[in-house]
Amino acid sequence: METMEADSRPANPLAGTGPEIAGPAPRHRTAGVRVGAGEGAVTVGGGAPIVVQSMTNTDTADIDATVAQVSQLARAGSELVRITVDRDEAAAAVPKIRERLDRIGVHVPLVGDFHYIGHKLLSDHPACAEALAKYRINPGNVGFKEKKDTQFSTIIEQAIRYGKTVRIGANWGSLDGELLTHLMDENAKSARPIDARAVMREAMVQSALSSAQRAEDLGLPKDRIILSAKVSAVQDLIAVYREVARRSDYAIHLGLTEAGMGSKGIVAASAAIGVLLQEGIGDTIRYSLTPEPGGDRTVEVKVAQELLQTMGFRTFVPLVAACPGCGRTTSTTFQELARDIQNWIATSMPEWKKTYPGVEGLNVAVMGCIVNGPGESKHADIGISLPGTGESPSAPVFIDGKKAMTLRGANLAKDFETIVIDYIERRFGQGARNAAE
Ligand code: SF4
Repeated sequence: METMEADSRPANPLAGTGPEIAGPAPRHRTAGVRVGAGEGAVTVGGGAPIVVQSMTNTDTADIDATVAQVSQLARAGSELVRITVDRDEAAAAVPKIRERLDRIGVHVPLVGDFHYIGHKLLSDHPACAEALAKYRINPGNVGFKEKKDTQFSTIIEQAIRYGKTVRIGANWGSLDGELLTHLMDENAKSARPIDARAVMREAMVQSALSSAQRAEDLGLPKDRIILSAKVSAVQDLIAVYREVARRSDYAIHLGLTEAGMGSKGIVAASAAIGVLLQEGIGDTIRYSLTPEPGGDRTVEVKVAQELLQTMGFRTFVPLVAACPGCGRTTSTTFQELARDIQNWIATSMPEWKKTYPGVEGLNVAVMGCIVNGPGESKHADIGISLPGTGESPSAPVFIDGKKAMTLRGANLAKDFETIVIDYIERRFGQGARNAAE
């Protein structure tokens, strides 16, 4: 009989010290929801890649402006785009917008955002109900008192009739007043009342979950329901979504509502969404950023992609790592090079995606001096370490971790671009694919 020999190798002193594990918790299991049909269709939940979505801020009745913004968002990488449907003129415009988008090859599914009169708009505008891939409704303002149930059921019936998905989106700013009052009363009567804010969080969770259950009772299957429960404070949001995930397996839309403007909005939403994604919660994300007046709406798409990419969930564009610069760099050469490379990559990507499949996984490093430059450059696929103050005016380039050449002179940026494109051709071009077959 053979016996297993004991492993004579020494125990690994690094095992069990912690750093061997780096990654998010397993994804929370949710029902997979197909949104849209045909070319642009995406799956949300059910283990599918986390979907990036966005929302227009044009008047939907303005067809030209809405078509232009939806296509900008879709071309920036938004996989679902939500539009406001607030009145008859907007509802009447929706099928025309869909048609125009299809004609220019933009097949991104459209989500209609309904408040107060969604039941009426969907009933009065069947072409709108048909053209949308998903209806977003807010259980806090779908109707009030005795009308609430009938208006809610009308929307769900339309979704069933047209085979559409519904997002039930509870929102802190329009929380179901009756439910909140009921929970506040119960809490006040209890022997151990909890904090009023905690009651509000519970109301958010219950509002989303009970509405989803009601939609199922009306005949909308679970694989056509997506839930969100948006709050504007980071810690409240994390608590609410943890609870929604603990109590259900509906596909989850994550977002911090009214995140705000500029860096404040980006940081707050990233903190909240990042923590939840790390815990395995979230199937689609949206950054509710307030743009600068006349600002670029696609920033919310770019930031969402960057969050997913830096956390390792998806890859969208080659990453450019750049050091922040310090007193060792008295010129702006490396900042300019990092910016130029980043812009060049961004503008080349639509073409590269077709010619060089997989190029989005490329890592490029642009570093300012010898301190971290060679080390960081070696970790990238291609890295350049520029000369800091007092260093000799040469820039070593590292390819796949090895020093490959040294660049000098005024054409350094162009020379580096040539090296990057040669590398991309070699690694992701047709030749590399033929060799792999
Ligand atoms: S790599 Fe050099 S220039 Fe860049 S931050 Fe570090 S020390 Fe400063």
